[in-house]
Amino acid sequence: MSKARREIREEILYWCRESVLRGLNFNTQGNISVRLPEHEAIVITPNGTRYDVLTPDQMVVVGYDGVVIEGDLFPSTETDVHLAHYRRRPDVNAIVHTESPYANMFGAVGRIIDPVLLNMVLYAKGAVRVMPFEFSTNIEFGELSASLMGDDVNALVWGNHGLISVGENLAGAFKVAVAVEANAQVLWGALSLGTPNILSLENIVIPQDARLP
Ligand SMILES: [Zn+2]
Repeated sequence: MSKARREIREEILYWCRESVLRGLNFNTQGNISVRLPEHEAIVITPNGTRYDVLTPDQMVVVGYDGVVIEGDLFPSTETDVHLAHYRRRPDVNAIVHTESPYANMFGAVGRIIDPVLLNMVLYAKGAVRVMPFEFSTNIEFGELSASLMGDDVNALVWGNHGLISVGENLAGAFKVAVAVEANAQVLWGALSLGTPNILSLENIVIPQDARLP
């Protein structure tokens, strides 16, 4: 019996396809993983496989030590990067990497993405920093990425490449990815109109009985 239950594999595939539908990825761009704490492993998308032909059984299970446990295909080239984020953040159970164009505009100029939308504050939890360009396929990149994201914010832009978002579960990590991209788009437009009103978790009051979006 597989260590990664069928539902987890199907959920990853669903969000891979959503990432293309939402314009966050194209073709084989990006990758998604989910933690399997009971097996000290993660399940991650395979390297270089188009999401429209990807199947649940092609997902790859990789131990915390980076060794493939299950799967016929190579795991994503950024597997070591995902593992570094899981090592740093016990609260993180899912990771979504996208190559979102508006977030990438900020990454291309090395400009932090300040929150101007409520969802950005609620899900990303703060301003999203930009890590200067480097190749993203090794442990050192992963450790730098995890340390620049830190413990309180749920996303980071890799300069000249894309966005990495984390969450307690996969739907949550994907909400972060969507919130950051929408915020980057609005911030880009708002900067051309005037001076945006920057939000932060500290200066907004969320009513106690508020139902969040
Ligand atoms: Zn990428």
